[in-house]
Amino acid sequence: MGLLDMFWSVCKCPACGTAMARKRFSTVQCRNPGCVNYSAQWQSTPDPTKKRWSQEPLRGSYDPGADAIELSYVNFFGDKKSFKGNKKTLRVRGKHVSVCLAPTGRRVALDRSRIQNAADVEAALKELGPEPSPKEARLLREYMGEDAEIAQYLELRKKYPGWAP
Ligand SMILES: [Zn+2]
Repeated sequence: MGLLDMFWSVCKCPACGTAMARKRFSTVQCRNPGCVNYSAQWQSTPDPTKKRWSQEPLRGSYDPGADAIELSYVNFFGDKKSFKGNKKTLRVRGKHVSVCLAPTGRRVALDRSRIQNAADVEAALKELGPEPSPKEARLLREYMGEDAEIAQYLELRKKYPGWAP
């Protein structure tokens, strides 16, 4: 990367109108092979608008530890992926299960029919037992992690020992 590369900015191509061009002073380079501004060099440069989504590794420090469950999943494109989730956060939502995944801790919904080790997931769900009602879940979430001596909360903890937000 030369010093002059710093002056490039991504823009809409003035010739073909796609958002796949870059500009430096009066020079425009476009990724569209059918365009007068087409540049092979620019096309071979990784698309800066896509990079963030597909290439950046997921970061975070969320670790389910002993509550980890491995999820083997085949996505819409037929790609096999393996996820590490927290089995205490498993919830059934129609044809999906939602679960918090490492390393970000973000909750995602997975199509149950695409989970390769569905039996493990079913077993974990069975272990979790019945799900608290939305009202009960709200109370549990509110006092979680505190030494709350609230009778109603302690009762719910006893009723749903495996539950995690
Ligand atoms: Zn163009």
